Amino acid sequence: MYNSVEEFMGHVEAKNQGEKEFHQAVHEVVDSLWDFLKDHPDYIHAKVLERIIEPERVVMFRVPWRNDRGEVEVNRGFRVEFNSAIGPYKGGLRFHPSVNLGILKFLGFEQVFKNSLTTLPMGGGKGGSDFDPKGKTDNEVMSFCQSFMTELSRHIGPDTDVPAGDIGVGGREIGYLFGQYKRIMNEFSGILTGKGLNWGGSLIRPEATGYGCVYFTEEMLKAKGDSISGKTVAISGSGNVAQFATEKVNDLGGKVITLSDSGGTIHDPEGIDSDKLEYVMDLKNVKRGRISEYAEKYGATFLEGKRPWDVACDVGLPCATQNEINEADAKTLVKNGCKAVAEGANMPSEPSAVEVFLGNNILFGPGKAANAGGVAVSGLEMSQNSMRLSWSREEVDQKLQGIMQSIHQACVDHGSNDKTIDYVKGANIAGFIKVADAMIDQGAV
Ligand code: NDP
Repeated sequence: MYNSVEEFMGHVEAKNQGEKEFHQAVHEVVDSLWDFLKDHPDYIHAKVLERIIEPERVVMFRVPWRNDRGEVEVNRGFRVEFNSAIGPYKGGLRFHPSVNLGILKFLGFEQVFKNSLTTLPMGGGKGGSDFDPKGKTDNEVMSFCQSFMTELSRHIGPDTDVPAGDIGVGGREIGYLFGQYKRIMNEFSGILTGKGLNWGGSLIRPEATGYGCVYFTEEMLKAKGDSISGKTVAISGSGNVAQFATEKVNDLGGKVITLSDSGGTIHDPEGIDSDKLEYVMDLKNVKRGRISEYAEKYGATFLEGKRPWDVACDVGLPCATQNEINEADAKTLVKNGCKAVAEGANMPSEPSAVEVFLGNNILFGPGKAANAGGVAVSGLEMSQNSMRLSWSREEVDQKLQGIMQSIHQACVDHGSNDKTIDYVKGANIAGFIKVADAMIDQGAV
């Protein structure tokens, strides 16, 4: 038994050296759980905490492929199969040059709790590669995906491990990966989610993470007698999550005033309405251009190399990547009157930024609750694949809204004190209980 969070973290850091994002993710969870565990010694006796931070399996592999000039290139592939106590491993694939084992372990660890919160039977996993799709032709991306799946196919399956998309992995990549799996295994089965609609995909899956994040924000505001309607919203990123968060904010009567990419932020005080959003979707998903082009087209301000957090807003939705809001950004958001922050991305707020939000009673929805809508609809895609049927757009959207409401309620049940709702604590405890109980039921495995 460890005597303090710090002592426990000393053990985690010594055993997982250099994996700073993983340490950060574990620290947050252990902080939330510490007092709860003291009141529930069965979890301590069964060493659930020591077990839950250790992935069940990590696969790391060579991915050789040929570029358009005929040269061989080599990347590194990973699949972290973190926890299967409540269902097959489930979690996205990330293709980005920053990908390493520590980042995928942080993402896989978060995924375990997130998937538990969705109420669906899914374990947690994450994978990907340090491959950079930016600037590559479709042919090169296909060549890479085929090589990646040639190895990954040995480790996944509809009842074993079902990957999906994440940064750098959208509909195009899922298509190439699925095609290669089918070719190798001679089997048409639901081994990936985020598939195309005419080959096993679910309606609302592309929209689900962004929509879900906004539904969660609306629930947090509703608990305070407020709503998104009439609010100005700063969003970071301009990929899948950011695009559909923008769409849903518009639907609910809010105004999105920023989007960004790794080159900088566009600030459009008039709001990014549906026509402008259509332009962004074409720019990013088809032309694969830079967000600065939006500023040229619409005469908006381009803040080169900057994130959106200096722009005054009522609601902040970080939807790009990890650690994109630091303490100074958080203080600026608070100073400018921001009322709510919900994480569309995974762990976008540094721990010191989270402290600022909680210390100032900002409604703060952590990623494992606020962005769980994507994996929730992936779970619904798996159900539809098993049943060999497709639900309508309205049916899936309604289920998504119901799931986001129940996640919000679970956070309220486990994170409320006299004055406020600590959504971080609520999400961590609620997510933990289901997985931990299943681990204990299944013995020392
Ligand atoms: P996309 O690849 O579609 O978009 C990512 C966006 O974030 C791009 O605008 C990209 O800009 C920007 N970005 C990525 N890395 C950086 C960086 N290091 N610095 C600045 N900007 C960056 O990914 P998604 O929208 O799918 O994912 C965004 C976040 O949401 C991630 O944290 C992901 O883990 C999380 N998430 C995604 C889910 C999904 O269903 N897709 C589900 C749950 C969480 P650029 O093009 O210049 O790199």
